[in-house]
Amino acid sequence: MCIFCKIINNEIPSNIILENESFLAFHDINPKAPVHILVIPKIHVNSFNEVAPKTMEKMTAFIQDVAKEVNIHKSGYRVITNIGENGGQEVNHLHFHVLGGAKLAWSHLTDANPKGMI
Ligand code: AMP
Repeated sequence: MCIFCKIINNEIPSNIILENESFLAFHDINPKAPVHILVIPKIHVNSFNEVAPKTMEKMTAFIQDVAKEVNIHKSGYRVITNIGENGGQEVNHLHFHVLGGAKLAWSHLTDANPKGMI
């Protein structure tokens, strides 16, 4: 069982912010911003590559509710999902990072020459 499925099953503790029958939002254990929340579906989905558009419809509304819950919806925030090796995905259970609470930098995502990239 993956680490996020264990969190869903209460086998690993988490700091929950919001939950419904389909999704869970909890604090990232290693925050990269003043607010750093992970949003996951309760069913196991490996990554964004495999998520059903119907799930995303409900997940989008849930992420919007999370942003309101922690009061970053007006100040602004960032939603990121890492996919696969080049995307930097470390946990193979679909998750959206919700980052905010400060003005976020947007630079230096790779050392590779952008002109050499497709
Ligand atoms: P990613 O690199 O996109 O797969 O992100 C995985 C995220 O999960 C990282 O930001 C980790 O800090 C976070 N993480 C890993 N284990 C836990 C845990 N037990 N509780 C909360 N966050 C976790």
